[in-house]
Amino acid sequence: MANYGPISYQIDLDAKGKQLSALTLDHSDDANAYTALSIPIAIIANGEGPTVLLVAGNHGNEYEGQVALREFVRQADVSDISGRIIVIPSLNMPAVRADVRVSPLDGVNLNRVFPGSSDAGPTAAIAGFVNDIVLPVCDAGVDIHTGGAEASLIPLAYVCRGGGDAVFAASVELAEAFATPWIYSEAGVTGGIDPEARRHRVAFFCTELGGGARLGAETTEIARCGVRNMLRYLGVLSGEVESKAATRCRYVTDAHARQLISPASGFLELLCELGETVSAGQDVAIVHPLENAFAEPTLLTAPDDGVVMTVRTTARVSQGDIVLDTAQEVGRAALFA
Ligand SMILES: [Zn+2]
Repeated sequence: MANYGPISYQIDLDAKGKQLSALTLDHSDDANAYTALSIPIAIIANGEGPTVLLVAGNHGNEYEGQVALREFVRQADVSDISGRIIVIPSLNMPAVRADVRVSPLDGVNLNRVFPGSSDAGPTAAIAGFVNDIVLPVCDAGVDIHTGGAEASLIPLAYVCRGGGDAVFAASVELAEAFATPWIYSEAGVTGGIDPEARRHRVAFFCTELGGGARLGAETTEIARCGVRNMLRYLGVLSGEVESKAATRCRYVTDAHARQLISPASGFLELLCELGETVSAGQDVAIVHPLENAFAEPTLLTAPDDGVVMTVRTTARVSQGDIVLDTAQEVGRAALFA
């Protein structure tokens, strides 16, 4: 048994075969005086090859990746593997159990606390375990997100810049093998898992696959196929990349993306669909006042020409909430500009 702050674990990173195990997170508060919470982890290793990290459940109410990775582990045959796959399908298990975005143990957003540490609370310890124990042995990886309870996104891969040109290019190619319909290059959110993966020079990306508090069949299938194709592309899983992966990816960057933020609170009526192409100034949403019942609603217009990448999925909106994001499609070369 090894320890990392409040986390204890029995996994052997160097063992061959299929290990199904769990990290144990010790925690004590008013709701859970003496709790040893399990965070499932699997390692599948055979022969020689790269080490790949597969993560989901970084936010607790994002489901597609959790389902796809659990299924992958159940079905994986060690004899099909050349290398090592580390799977943590519900990384933020405290938030998964509560069906919320951030951990109910300390109110911390796991994807804003990387690189984490062993002595700054339970969520920082989960991040620190990944950063200090897992990422240093990895060559490639993916963290599968969705829009959660309040937003839905067109299926895309976020590839953060940084870590050097070669690692960024390898990450883009990895995302292309995963074959989300869209690939989005961005600066990366401070505290996210992906900038830290880059610091470890791991080819890495995050996905956003749907959302809106739903588990979508189509988006779950993208996750299932994406994981297999990414592993086949790396040579870690036997077999050919499936034909779906030949789907041409389309590209956007944060330099060509705009947010539409609600100026008021109220009921949100969306006038456009996810994935729709809109023009600057086009009517895209109405915010109906909440308490000033007979006041005129506020009409919101598209901030720019582009494809609607993200929409808010709740009927209620508060001042400051993002109503939608638009982004202009760019050529692949623009990712590297
Ligand atoms: Zn997320």
